[in-house]
Amino acid sequence: MKKYKTLLFDVDDTLLDFAAAEGSALRMLFEEQQLTLTTEIENNYKNINQGLWERFEEGEIDRDEVVNTRFSLLFKEYGKEVDGVLLEKNYRSYLEEGHELIEGALELIKKLRGQFDLYIVTNGVSKTQYKRLHNSGLHTLFKEIFVSEDTGYQKPMKEFFDYVFARIPTVSKEEMLIIGDSLSSDIKGGQWAGIDTCWFNPKMKPNNTSIVPTFQIQKLEELYKILEV
Ligand SMILES: [Mg+2]
Repeated sequence: MKKYKTLLFDVDDTLLDFAAAEGSALRMLFEEQQLTLTTEIENNYKNINQGLWERFEEGEIDRDEVVNTRFSLLFKEYGKEVDGVLLEKNYRSYLEEGHELIEGALELIKKLRGQFDLYIVTNGVSKTQYKRLHNSGLHTLFKEIFVSEDTGYQKPMKEFFDYVFARIPTVSKEEMLIIGDSLSSDIKGGQWAGIDTCWFNPKMKPNNTSIVPTFQIQKLEELYKILEV
């Protein structure tokens, strides 16, 4: 008999390629501003963005400040003053278009859906995530989609998982598995919630944290063995 009945899937860089979506959204934004996006500028953006999200996680600034200032801060470094709120709005509309699948993701989900209850657990903006999931064809293959913005909490917070557990059919926690690429949100969150975890680590990054996943996979199809499919 199979051990797991309910599977919780992360979206970004687990099922959908966020790096690809982010890269093309940035390129389109720069095109619109009649500027060329160089690797240096892209890396600079990533540093600024990451720094702001870290300040958000520390509780220093709110989410709106992160997204509405990241572009004005970036362009300021190149001597250009821009409307950060407007650029964020445009960037978001480009980002919504990005729905490139991680290799093997659609086949995996199609194969699993008849044998497991599948749910999405994702941190992000609801409208963006729904649109990307819809356009990728993943949307209808899941029983329900839980986006942090709608729950009021985010992974790894226990409250996020409490919200999810209250809305799905009761199964014992031993029968649940979360699959995601982030040690700090998916795997830590799963641990805090008391369920087994599977770290999707395609680049085989070393784990320099004290967070220990139940399983680690490099390719999505390795899940078949874990799930006894
Ligand atoms: Mg992810």
